[in-house]
Amino acid sequence: MTKRRLKQIIPGRASSDGAGVSLIRSLGSTERSRQDPFLMLDEFGSDKAQDYIAGFPSHPHRGFETVTYMLDGEMLHEDHMGNKGRLGPGGVQWMTAGRGIIHSEMPQQEEGLMRGFQLWINLPASQKMCEPTYREFAADEIPQIGLAGNGWIKVIAGKVTHSGQVTEGPVRGVATDPVYLDIALDQDQQLALPLPRGHNALIYVYQGNVMVEGQSLPSQHAGLLSDGDEVTLETGLTQSARLLLMAARPIGEPIVQHGPFVMNTYDEIRQAIRDFQSGRLTG
Ligand code: FE
Repeated sequence: MTKRRLKQIIPGRASSDGAGVSLIRSLGSTERSRQDPFLMLDEFGSDKAQDYIAGFPSHPHRGFETVTYMLDGEMLHEDHMGNKGRLGPGGVQWMTAGRGIIHSEMPQQEEGLMRGFQLWINLPASQKMCEPTYREFAADEIPQIGLAGNGWIKVIAGKVTHSGQVTEGPVRGVATDPVYLDIALDQDQQLALPLPRGHNALIYVYQGNVMVEGQSLPSQHAGLLSDGDEVTLETGLTQSARLLLMAARPIGEPIVQHGPFVMNTYDEIRQAIRDFQSGRLTG
């Protein structure tokens, strides 16, 4: 059995997106800081309204999937297909843009804490032009596994085997067979989790500090993992930690990204821009 180790650490960088939402981008901050099929990971978190109030007004996507996971606060999603969903604390929105989606994500609060993540997952060429789909799961639809002490694992996507029990997240039927977990570890805790061999995996620490095979990963840093069968996460004696763990089957195709369009060739990007400008992105 091979243990997964940290092979690359990507520090989060202060950035801004949408109409001026402050966020921390780790994965995807440069083209070399991706982990196929994961393209980008943003953490947004602030109790100052000016950091999030402008939201993400109407904008397009083509060729990949966006996953929003909220920790605190409330966002309203609306798209051209007529989907309308309020995303609250602990809720997940899984959107497969496929050939094209136009949507907005706007804060439903004028003050208080807004905190969460957006993850972009690529689609293989064969599914880049599929029909768009929108899925939404409230906090109580996400199964939670209790760990020793105050620790837990929330299973958003994929299967987790822990203490001989298999727990499966509600997000199913995704092209790259992803695992997406939110994990809370107590201080002085060790957690070994099997991960499918061949899946590309990474962790993102958003509170505290996590050790992987003796190497430390601080908060607001993404750690790309080497291949293997299992990862062991460990916390220090005095500090608890919270992190996301993501794994998926790599696609292994060329990536050409232009803003919200992620395709395989420049020609396909030019086509996406033309389709958007002429109002044909969504069919
Ligand atoms: Fe979007």
